[in-house]
Amino acid sequence: MAIKITDIPPEGLQLEIAQELDLFESGEGTTSAAVAASLSINPADESGFHITGRVQCEPMLECSRCLSRFPYRIDTKLNFDLSPLNTVDSTPPEHEIGKGELDTEFYEGDEIDPLDIVREQLLLAIPMVPLHDSGCKGLCPVCGTNRNEADCRCDKGAWGKNNAFSVLKDIFKKKKE
Ligand SMILES: [Zn+2]
Ligand SMILES: [Zn+2]
Repeated sequence: MAIKITDIPPEGLQLEIAQELDLFESGEGTTSAAVAASLSINPADESGFHITGRVQCEPMLECSRCLSRFPYRIDTKLNFDLSPLNTVDSTPPEHEIGKGELDTEFYEGDEIDPLDIVREQLLLAIPMVPLHDSGCKGLCPVCGTNRNEADCRCDKGAWGKNNAFSVLKDIFKKKKE
């Protein structure tokens, strides 16, 4: 779906995207999700572009506490500059202070791939530590029971008495006696 830079007219391009997109590789394979996006690509200074639009998606994420899979709603607005990456000096220029809060992304070569833009924005919107609920109780460290669904019999007292450290303590006690 790549677009040649030279095909983008001075008045800009409007794109509507609605398709399944592979977002990232997870433990169980690739996570794909239906994505709806509208992108507006407008030429800016020095062969750069200004991107605005909106991306909506609801990928299935895995809760990092209880490991259950849950739909995570993403509805994010786009507003950033897309600048050509100088291939001679491939380090992106230092972030200019005073340029405002506008982010700058970079493209390489003579094409822009709107799906890459959308995918990148979605990955930015996905939390590093996804939680299916901020109050998720997680899994019991002793028996693995999902504490959101059931109470197990490993109460905190039992965990405190039987863990490896207190067993060691007992051994030291016995040696001293
Ligand atoms: Zn959870
Ligand atoms: Zn338990």
